[in-house]
Amino acid sequence: METLSSIKLSRRTLIATAVSAGLIGTKFATAGDSVSADEKEKGPMGLVSVYDFGAVKLHSYMAPSFSAVVTTQIIETASELHVIDAQFVQSIAKEVRAYADSLGKPIAGVYLSHWHPDHLLGASQFEGIPFMTTEDISADCNRNEMTYLKRKEQFNDDTVLSLPKGTLQVGNNDWDGVKVVVNQINDCEAEHTLTFHIPEVGLMIVQDLMFNNAHSFPLGNHTNWISTLETIRNTEGLRLLGCGHGLPATTGAITDSIAYLKFQKAVFGNEKDAESASTALKLAFPHYEGQDSLRFISALYK
Ligand SMILES: [Zn+2]
Repeated sequence: METLSSIKLSRRTLIATAVSAGLIGTKFATAGDSVSADEKEKGPMGLVSVYDFGAVKLHSYMAPSFSAVVTTQIIETASELHVIDAQFVQSIAKEVRAYADSLGKPIAGVYLSHWHPDHLLGASQFEGIPFMTTEDISADCNRNEMTYLKRKEQFNDDTVLSLPKGTLQVGNNDWDGVKVVVNQINDCEAEHTLTFHIPEVGLMIVQDLMFNNAHSFPLGNHTNWISTLETIRNTEGLRLLGCGHGLPATTGAITDSIAYLKFQKAVFGNEKDAESASTALKLAFPHYEGQDSLRFISALYK
């Protein structure tokens, strides 16, 4: 049974449960002093949804709009935690770390799904914990070090840049007795992207292959990306997807993502400049989060 009521009601889980039920647009008490005055003015911090599958729990942390609704996925097994992606700005990453620590289990590893800065910069908050990805993505990160440093400067982020080691193997991984199938998919939203599939419970973390109710990053290879999503949609027993931006989704949302990508691709074919392309997408999806990512459209019209 995947029900929130099966979670033991400690004060801590009460907070998580209330958050997942939409009762608290939260600022965790444990993370309060990590938030600067500036950011407090920006409104609520992240939202956590908890899905209890029995063998594992997914704690899915979605950042607020000012941090691109980036989602960190925390997989909780019987005795440890595995964190997928590390957030964009440090205050948000600190909140994720505080939430993970509140679960009372050691973090066995932090994993990076792809090189983009919105998923990597917050890794500074996980010092001392193995930070891993595949060799290809590690090379992507090393090649883009200047991109990270420029962003950190822009954010007045003076933490030490943390880059992952390329030690994660694709194929079957054993996380505390749970089989996790890691797959690397090439040339979609990023050059290389990882998915983490736990077949036993029908959970797949797909990160930036899916933007749930948010604008997709516009610079990917749309053709490959769409066919990858079609393949994922056919995965047997799939029940829940962890998305890189936005809340987790059920499989029906893959069809929405495919439709969005097809529309985005058509817009780039039809519109004569970046501004009109961006406007067309905002008009067609006025309630989507992640409008900031549309500014990358300008790279397509250079
Ligand atoms: Zn992203």
